[in-house]
Amino acid sequence: MNTAEPPTTLRVFRENSRRYPDRPQLIYFDTILTVRQVDELSDALAAALAAEGVGPGDRVAAFMQNMPHYVLTLLAVWKLGAILVPVNPMLRAAELEHHLNDCGAVVLVALDTLWRDVARDVVAATAVRRVITARGCGMQTRNDERVLADRTVEPATGVLEFETLLARYRGRAPRPHEPSPEDVAFLCYTSGTTGAPKGAMCSHRNVISVGRATCAVTAVGPHSTVLALAPLFHITGLMVQLVPALISCCPLVLSFRFHPGVMLDSIREHRPTFAVGPVTAYIGLLQNPGFTLSDFAAFDRVYSGGAPISPATARSFEERTGQQLLGAYGMTEATAATHLTPKGMRSPVDPTTGALAVGLPTPGTSVRIVDDDGNELPAGTAGEVVLSSPGVVSGYWNRPDATAATIRDGLLYSGDIGVVDEDGWLFLVDRKKDLINCSGFKVWPREVEDALYEHPAVLEAAVVGAPDRYRGETVKAFVSLKKPGSVDSAELAAFVRERLAAYKRPSEIQILGSLPKTSSGKILRRALRDSTTSLPTAALD
Ligand code: AMP
Repeated sequence: MNTAEPPTTLRVFRENSRRYPDRPQLIYFDTILTVRQVDELSDALAAALAAEGVGPGDRVAAFMQNMPHYVLTLLAVWKLGAILVPVNPMLRAAELEHHLNDCGAVVLVALDTLWRDVARDVVAATAVRRVITARGCGMQTRNDERVLADRTVEPATGVLEFETLLARYRGRAPRPHEPSPEDVAFLCYTSGTTGAPKGAMCSHRNVISVGRATCAVTAVGPHSTVLALAPLFHITGLMVQLVPALISCCPLVLSFRFHPGVMLDSIREHRPTFAVGPVTAYIGLLQNPGFTLSDFAAFDRVYSGGAPISPATARSFEERTGQQLLGAYGMTEATAATHLTPKGMRSPVDPTTGALAVGLPTPGTSVRIVDDDGNELPAGTAGEVVLSSPGVVSGYWNRPDATAATIRDGLLYSGDIGVVDEDGWLFLVDRKKDLINCSGFKVWPREVEDALYEHPAVLEAAVVGAPDRYRGETVKAFVSLKKPGSVDSAELAAFVRERLAAYKRPSEIQILGSLPKTSSGKILRRALRDSTTSLPTAALD
C-alpha cells in the first residue's frame, strides 16, 4: 500500500487494538466489550463469513437495532474487504426485498425477531444464500423488558446463529486483508432525488476523511463517551457516532432501539459526553417523567441534525438541559456531516426567514449556492446548495443515471435550497425536492402513493408533508376512488400498514371526489400541501 494514502478506519481500529487493548469500546446494558474483545469477536465472525464464501466486494446486509452485533458485523465485513449494507429495521417485507435485490446481498445478518416477522418471507426471492440471526439480549446481557420484551424466537432451520458462530470460530481469523481507500465500505440507502431508494457508495476514503473531520470539530477523542442516540442503519449513526468512537478508541453506548426511558437510564448510568440525533429524540428525553437538569450534566457537546430546529426549540432545550443544542447538516451522499456548529459559537438567525443556521463547513468542505442554470450566486442569495467535500460519494450502486443527476464533477447537488452568509454560516430555506422530513426520517411521496395505488378501489393518490408540531412534518395522503363509497380511510390505512414502514404511513388519508390537477392533467401536490395548513392531522395509529 502507498504510504501517502490515508489509513482506513479498519487500520486505525487495529492499531488501537494493539496499543489500547483494554479500553472499553462497546457498552450495551450490562455488557462491556474492550477493544481487544471487539477485535477478536469480529475476527471470529469474519472467519465464519469467509467459510461461507464471503470475499472482497461481496455485500452483507445488517438488519438489526443498535446492538454490539452490528459493530462486530461491520468490522468482520471490512476485514474481508466486503461491503456492509445497513438496512433500516423498520422496513417491511417488500421494502427489505427491494433493498436486498438492489444490492445483491449474499448474506443477511438479522435480529432474530426481524427474521421471524419480516425477512423470512422474502429471502428466497433474493440472492441471499446464508442468514445469520442475532439475539438482542445476547452477549450475556440483562433483558430490559421495555425494549426487549418479545424474546421467544424458536431456533429456525437453515439459519446460523450469531452466538453459535462466535463460539465455533473463537480464536480464528481470516487471512489479513487491507481494503484500499477506494473500496466501498458501506452502501447506505437513501431516498435521494428520485423515488426508489438508492445505495450511496461510501468508500473507505470517504469514511476516514469524514470521520476525522467530524472528530476534529466535535472534539470526540479518547476521553469521550459517545451515546448511540441515532440509529446505526442511518449515515448519522454510522458516521457521527460509530466511526468517531472507533477512530478515537472511546466507548460507544448502545441501547437497542430508541426508548426515552431506556435511553435516559443509559445516560444516567454511563454519563456519555457526546450525542447526536434528531431534535424529536431530545424532546422525547426531556418529556420523560423524572428528567432533570443533571441528566445532561456530563455532556460536552450535544448535536441535532437531519431535520430543522427552530430558534425557540434551541432556546428551550438550553433552558431545560443547560446545554447548547448545536446544529448539524449533511446527507447520505456526503457520507454525513458537511456542516457542524462549533461549540461556544452562537448560530445566527436568518433575518428574512427566521431560520437558525445549520452550521459552518467542516474541514475540507466548500459550498456554492447556484441558480437553476448552475450559476454561482452571491452571499445572502437563496439557491441550491452544492457541496464539495472529501465525503462526497462516487455515486449510487448500479445507477449511473441517478448518479449523473446528483453528482457531477465531484460536486454534490443537494436538492436543498439555502443561503450562505458572509461568515460562511449555512441557512436552509426549503427543499427543492418533495421529500417529506418526519423528524429526520425521509419519506418520498411517490413510494407512499405507489402503496395506495395498489388498492383496487383507488383511482388517484397524492401524498404531501403536513406541518406537525412534534415531528416537523407528517405524511398526509389524498385519494379519489374509482367508485365512490367503495372503501373508507380506515381500510386504506390498514392496507398501507402492511406495505410500509411505520414512519412512512400517512397520519391521515383524506378521500376527495377528485384531486386538483394542472391543465396538462398532472396532480397538483402543491395545492394539496397548501390545504394541509388549515386541516387538522389526526394520528391513525
Ligand atoms: P439523509 O440523507 O437521510 O441524511 O437526508 C439528508 C437531508 O436531510 C438533507 O438533504 C436535508 O434536506 C435534510 N437535513 C439534514 N440536516 C438538516 C438540518 N440541520 N436542518 C434541516 N434539514 C436537514
